[in-house]
Amino acid sequence: RAKQRGRDTFHIFDPDHDRLLQVRHEQRQRFIAALDNNELCLHYQPQVDMCSGEVVGVEALIRWQHPEQGLLPPAQFLPVIDASSLEIDLGEWVLETAMRQLTRWAKNGIALPINVNISPTHLLVSDFSQRLAALLSRYPHVPPAMLKLEVLESAAMHDTQAALETMAECQRLGVNFAIDDFGTGFSSLTHLRQLPVNLIKIDQSFVRDMLSDQDDMAIVESVIYMANRFNRPMLAEGVETLAHAKALIALGCELAQGYGIARPMPAEALPMWLTHWPTREDWKALTH
Ligand code: C2E
Ligand code: MG
Ligand code: MG
Ligand code: MG
Repeated sequence: RAKQRGRDTFHIFDPDHDRLLQVRHEQRQRFIAALDNNELCLHYQPQVDMCSGEVVGVEALIRWQHPEQGLLPPAQFLPVIDASSLEIDLGEWVLETAMRQLTRWAKNGIALPINVNISPTHLLVSDFSQRLAALLSRYPHVPPAMLKLEVLESAAMHDTQAALETMAECQRLGVNFAIDDFGTGFSSLTHLRQLPVNLIKIDQSFVRDMLSDQDDMAIVESVIYMANRFNRPMLAEGVETLAHAKALIALGCELAQGYGIARPMPAEALPMWLTHWPTREDWKALTH
């Protein structure tokens, strides 16, 4: 049988390819151990209302506290589990961890919704919404609207029908959606109109250079205009400076997130960060 297949797929005899598969396998095993050993954690990045400066929520961002390599960002380990069932295991862990965090913050008087990034593989699991319902029922004191799901524009476009149905089911549970990295996924306006999303997040690549690149400025401006016309809240990612914030406010951008506001931080650091964040008056003075 190997001989027969070997005619057109000679690479199965390629030792380099075998080695690659072996490395992949070892990396996955290491990741499974990390999940079991509690080496993963979530950091949280605040999202603010541009008008009032009010903190309206946080985005949960996965980190790996690797015993030898230190704190690893997702770009260094998510590719290893790409399109495998481990993405689903990770996704469930992230959702559960976010729900526990919401419970803990509620006890400390912090009522900020958490945005969780959902991978396309996870969203398209056939019983995604049932699993989400089960999760919510384990945390009866957490209102479903405190959990928001961020889905990549490209994911929502990939298997549109299935994604749309799942998203609608989740919304019936009271869970809202944000469309992440908007502008990078080639969705048409028709698609956008169909998508049951409550927030459009314009990709940071456009925001970063908007002050120096006219094309990027035009894209940011158009997305803000369109979101306002469609009556959809929109958020600018990658707001790194006050100049960005001021320009976005002038364009009518509602919400923002970025290093200029706060870097992602451990859950324990958030209460202190909140106490230092400007009041409504200070924000007005700062941005106007
Ligand atoms: P994303 O969801 O678009 O998250 C925004 C990324 O931009 C984060 O990188 C954040 O730290 C970074 N960022 C925020 N503000 C700024 C800024 O002002 N300037 C710059 N240069 N970067 C900024 P991070 O944490 O490395 O995450 C990268 C991506 O990994 C995320 O992009 C998301 O797609 C994915 N990811 C993160 N956490 C999870 C997770 O729990 N599950 C899944 N499936 N994906 C995740
Ligand atoms: Mg995101
Ligand atoms: Mg994004
Ligand atoms: Mg991104």
